[in-house]
Amino acid sequence: MERFNIAIDGTSGVGKSTIADLLAKKYNMTHLDTGAMYRCVGLYLHNCHVDLENESEIASHLDEIHISFNGKQVFLNGEDVSEAIRTNDVSMYASKVSTYGPVRTKMVALQQETVKDGGYIVDGRDICTVVLPDAKVKIFMSATCKARAQRRYLEYVNKGIECDYQKIYDDIAARDYQDSHRAISPLVKADDAIEVDTSDLSIEEVVKVITDIIEK
Ligand code: C5P
Repeated sequence: MERFNIAIDGTSGVGKSTIADLLAKKYNMTHLDTGAMYRCVGLYLHNCHVDLENESEIASHLDEIHISFNGKQVFLNGEDVSEAIRTNDVSMYASKVSTYGPVRTKMVALQQETVKDGGYIVDGRDICTVVLPDAKVKIFMSATCKARAQRRYLEYVNKGIECDYQKIYDDIAARDYQDSHRAISPLVKADDAIEVDTSDLSIEEVVKVITDIIEK
């Protein structure tokens, strides 16, 4: 079978990673979670006490950052940060650092190099528009802020993580705003991407809808 790539964009907490993982298994492809890469950058710069408002200071540290994957594990300069990058604070650092041109240039180049031979399901915010504008399948996943906050809240409760629903809702809304209003590569639906509104769909239903799109 021809090794093509599938591009999935969408808002925070819409379930892109979960769906991309399931589709990757189904089609024997590899999932590239580009959000994890921006999270690594945010975590690294925060740990180095870099001022996240200072673009030139950020740019001067980018060569120190090496990101790699082993299945679902994410490594930052050789250290397994798979868990550490998933906190709410790191989400906010990632959203902040991803507004800067030098960060995006480095990440986009790395992503394009990684998937150049095909066989990847790539999820993020600018995959259909910038990273893989020629991808064979382009999906834009959406859901209301309320639906996404409720899912995230239940996920934390089920994991026994203490949380506050309103804070989760407000953080998702803040990231939506930051991601869609930044000057460089803002989150937008590519004209030729197919929108899948997941607000009222189960995980299985979303997989079915996207599978139908892929196989068409
Ligand atoms: O997808 P995830 O929530 O893990 O992404 C974390 C942050 O990284 C997003 O809020 C967004 O600001 C940034 N991001 C991006 N472009 C991507 C993937 C993620 O700007 N392709």
